[in-house]
Amino acid sequence: MRFALIDGVKVEASKGAKGFCQSCGAEMIAKCGDFKINHWAHKRKYQCDTWWETETEWHRKWKGNYPIEWQEVIQFDSDTNEKHIADIQTKKGLVIEFQHSRLNPEERRKREGFYKNMVWVVDGTRLKRDFPRFFKEWKSNGISEVRRTDKSGIFEVWFPEFCFPEAWLKSSVPVIFDFLGDGTLEDPESMRNSLYCLFPQIGKYASVAEFSRKAFLNATTNGNWTLRVQKFLNHLIEQNKIRVQKERLELERHYALNRYEFNQRLLGRKYTGGKRRL
Ligand SMILES: [Zn+2]
Repeated sequence: MRFALIDGVKVEASKGAKGFCQSCGAEMIAKCGDFKINHWAHKRKYQCDTWWETETEWHRKWKGNYPIEWQEVIQFDSDTNEKHIADIQTKKGLVIEFQHSRLNPEERRKREGFYKNMVWVVDGTRLKRDFPRFFKEWKSNGISEVRRTDKSGIFEVWFPEFCFPEAWLKSSVPVIFDFLGDGTLEDPESMRNSLYCLFPQIGKYASVAEFSRKAFLNATTNGNWTLRVQKFLNHLIEQNKIRVQKERLELERHYALNRYEFNQRLLGRKYTGGKRRL
């Protein structure tokens, strides 16, 4: 962890320091070496939060964008007595989790159920092929069928499984893919500076928004994020209703036409495409 408590204050690890775990209260010792980033570890080698993952530079950079009070915040569910440490919890209660390691869908669902008002930020460079695959699909409009919409920066993606890692496709909260990584991947069009947000799927295709890091940091810091996401999801629900209605009408028309043809055949007449022969 980045922080432990010394005299009740959140403090970063420094050589030789001792503190206490914010979550379980156990003794923590500072680990400051050459290989791993400075962090706190429980003195008795156990991890009180099984959801906690070993932090990378990537985690630290992201967390560092927010005030210290918002970093590593204990979340407690009094119904189940469950306790976890959120990477970020904003003043408005939004939880932001930065996920580098693979997470299976079952685990992902559990965490979404626990945090509820949350957004994932996923390290999109964990596997070497993730970004090249995304890049190819996004630019070539290949099998995933990425289409622009009339809203700037919003895309519809008919087969998101060809763009994004499968474990994140059925998420019930927005998932943001960060493809920047450590800067070693080729990026001819500096696409990796943007973030790509996959929204919970409503209807037949997935919706993806492309925005800048700054826009994301602003929206999550000033508290507008949750409302804007809700508004956008409502818009998608409305649009989907209209689409379903249209499809139903078309289907009904199609059946009506077929019925007409069928009746005409019964009467021994040939269907002439709706035009009466005189
Ligand atoms: Zn602990």
